[in-house]
Amino acid sequence: MADKDTGTDPAQNAGAQDYQAITLKLRDEVKKLLQNKDMKYVIGWTAGSYGLRISPVFIEDPKDLDKLVWSPFCINSLAVYPTLEEKLPLPRGTPEDTRRIGIVVKGCDSRGLVQILSEKGFPREHVVILGIPCTGQIDPDKFLPLLVDKGVAKNIKMTDIDVTDQNDKFKFKINNIEFESAKAEVIYDKCLTCKYPNPILFDIQLAPQVEPRAKAGEGYEKVAELSSMTDDERWAYWAEKFERCIRCYACRDICPVCYCKECLTEKWEPDWINKSKNLTENTMFHITRALHLAGRCIDCHECERTCPVGIPLLEIYKRIEKEIIDQFDYEPGLESEAKPVFSTFNPDDPGQFIL
Ligand code: SF4
Ligand code: SF4
Ligand code: SF4
Repeated sequence: MADKDTGTDPAQNAGAQDYQAITLKLRDEVKKLLQNKDMKYVIGWTAGSYGLRISPVFIEDPKDLDKLVWSPFCINSLAVYPTLEEKLPLPRGTPEDTRRIGIVVKGCDSRGLVQILSEKGFPREHVVILGIPCTGQIDPDKFLPLLVDKGVAKNIKMTDIDVTDQNDKFKFKINNIEFESAKAEVIYDKCLTCKYPNPILFDIQLAPQVEPRAKAGEGYEKVAELSSMTDDERWAYWAEKFERCIRCYACRDICPVCYCKECLTEKWEPDWINKSKNLTENTMFHITRALHLAGRCIDCHECERTCPVGIPLLEIYKRIEKEIIDQFDYEPGLESEAKPVFSTFNPDDPGQFIL
């Protein structure tokens, strides 16, 4: 098992990966795991049914091993499944299945698992973590215009693309068309400011560690910009965003650390947040969710990626993240044994709010 203090080993730094070799190693490790009778399944990624989409896959049977892939299209965090799948209510009289599960994680995903473990969301011994250091994931919104430019049909699947990681660029081969692109042009914005590309916690590491693109304290430019607005300007900014929210709750459902059995948004008595979709209720939802995630949000950006109306949710959560780092010197999802920040009290904590 490894934790935060393993950090990046400079001797193992690498900026490029062999996706095929890592995929084969992954299948091999999963095959070995499934030979244990106490292993229920391993959750990994597989090619999605359309376009550049990737899907989660639960491998229970070794005959499905070749479904598993590792590529720069594996953006989905799988860290949500241990609580989603393993905490389902059991029919009366059904004994609990206590077999272990395996899960494949990138650096950002691993922070979700670490945070859940630190909150005692599920037992550490229940999960085997297969960690893959990550050199950046491709954002379809940035990549598709490039494909059109190169004369490649928009409706290709990720399995049609042969991609090679060449450190600061990708080389693509699609049928007879070959081209290159700087990574910085096509990877997700969150990957451009990634501080933790290496899994924080793992049992099996499938590739050498890689260099982070950003350092502590970086990536708060938007927070500073919003903080410099007047209250009225900031309210106008957020009112326009919150007005667009359709309350689909995709942001909540995808979030690895939003795993309460009973969500406040679904309670009728008391009806804390009305089901109506209007600016008042939407604002209440977003403020409540932001406060419930204070000191817990692990910066995976899955909520923002999933939001169908493009609300920049991380602009809220990063504002709170910065406050927690500045006030308490605490960043969630880095130490599975650490107590969550709001579960501890230190007499030296700032207490200006206490009258
Ligand atoms: S944020 Fe980091 S670990 Fe996560 S997908 Fe991007 S580069 Fe990989
Ligand atoms: S995913 Fe977007 S639209 Fe849906 S509830 Fe969340 S913020 Fe609103
Ligand atoms: S609030 Fe968004 S960024 Fe934070 S942990 Fe949840 S899904 Fe990830």
